Amino acid sequence: MKKKKQKKTAQRQIRCPVCGAMAVLRPAAEIYGNPHRRDQLYVCSNYPKCRCYVGTHPGTNIPLGTLADGDLRNLRIQAHRKFDEVWRSRIMSRESAYCWMADLFGIPLREAHIGLFGEYRCRELIRACDQVLENRQRVQC
Ligand SMILES: [Zn+2]
Repeated sequence: MKKKKQKKTAQRQIRCPVCGAMAVLRPAAEIYGNPHRRDQLYVCSNYPKCRCYVGTHPGTNIPLGTLADGDLRNLRIQAHRKFDEVWRSRIMSRESAYCWMADLFGIPLREAHIGLFGEYRCRELIRACDQVLENRQRVQC
C-alpha cells in the first residue's frame, strides 16, 4: 500500500492521550505568554483545564511527539539531556545511540523518539544512560 505523504504544514489530527480531546494548533506565544515565540504548539482543546501540549518541528506543523502534561514534558527534557550526554561523550555515535535506544525497548528505530515516550520509558532511558555513562560501556549497533 502506498503511503500518502502529508504536507509539512498540514494540520495533524491528534488527540490528547490524557483526556481524549482533539488537539488544536495555537501560537506558542499565547501559551507561554512570550510574544517573541513564533512557533506553534498542538494544545489540548480542554486547555487550560487539561495542561497537555506538544511543540512542532521548526518551520512545520509536524508534532515533536505526543501531547504531554507538565510532569511528562519535564521528564522528557531530562531524558533527552541524558541521552544526548551519551553520544556527546563519544561513547557511541549519535546513530548508534538511537539504535541502542530502540534495542533497549525492543521497538523499531522510527519509534525511538523521546517525544513519543511515556513516564516509564523516560525513567528507564535515564537509568540505562547513567549505566552507560558510568561504565563507559561501548555498544555496537
Ligand atoms: Zn487533554
